[in-house]
Amino acid sequence: MAEGLTSVPCNLCGTTTSRPFTRRQGFTVVACDACGLVYVNPRVPLERITEHYNGNESSRIQYYLDAEAADRRSFAEVLARAEALLGAPGDLLDVGPNVGTCLELARERGWRGRGIELNADAARHCRDVRRLDVVTGTLEDAPFPAASFDGILMGDVIEHLPDPQDALRRVASLLRPGGVVLVSTPDIGRWAARALQVKPLEHLYYYSRETMGRALGQAGLEVVEIVPFDRHKNLTGMTHSTTCGTLFQRLAPLFRLARRAFGDLVVRFPLRENLLAVARRPRAA
Ligand SMILES: [Zn+2]
Repeated sequence: MAEGLTSVPCNLCGTTTSRPFTRRQGFTVVACDACGLVYVNPRVPLERITEHYNGNESSRIQYYLDAEAADRRSFAEVLARAEALLGAPGDLLDVGPNVGTCLELARERGWRGRGIELNADAARHCRDVRRLDVVTGTLEDAPFPAASFDGILMGDVIEHLPDPQDALRRVASLLRPGGVVLVSTPDIGRWAARALQVKPLEHLYYYSRETMGRALGQAGLEVVEIVPFDRHKNLTGMTHSTTCGTLFQRLAPLFRLARRAFGDLVVRFPLRENLLAVARRPRAA
């Protein structure tokens, strides 16, 4: 094993044996022999992961601000699903809200939103610029009482977490009976995610519809549906994308020209690159 890396068992079933899935950025991504969960193993220790998010190398604030027009459309669809299931907006927790685009939209739609964000700069942006109730930290040290939310959103966050199963259990306990959690993440069962979303420095876990269903069930949640989910993208946001190496960054002048001519185009590629899982906390114990 390379120096400074630690080996971890399968987060979903505890099995320690796995087969190679792929190699990327000098890391090995494996698939669990027992349940098929795909994850980075061995990986960098926890402290270095936390540093990564506070060093602003990932989740750059400017990117999320530039992607806002597209993100609002994606989040509107997610919130609409929760509203349909619950009957009305209620208390919402956004896990990893970054600059707070979804929480602001949720507030406009009648939700009472709160957030917990690891990136201190992004959390401050939520509080100071958008007047949102967002605390800095992680779910483990979250100050929220049990059963205090009707909806919890984990938008493109579970793949970054060092212990996603623990996070899902915490989410289940924070939900009121009948409350819903919405999880979006790359769908490793799809070629687009395998080609574009394997980024071992940022994404530690890779779910398919099967492993996501099992993860939610194991956390005590009832799966309502797991559907393909393509996020909207806009030209301005795409100039920051690292998904195609530096391709989009090199095309940035062209995108800026296009934006001047046509406005900030919002597009959606039907790649089925992500999944959206919707699950409920059962009403009766
Ligand atoms: Zn497993």
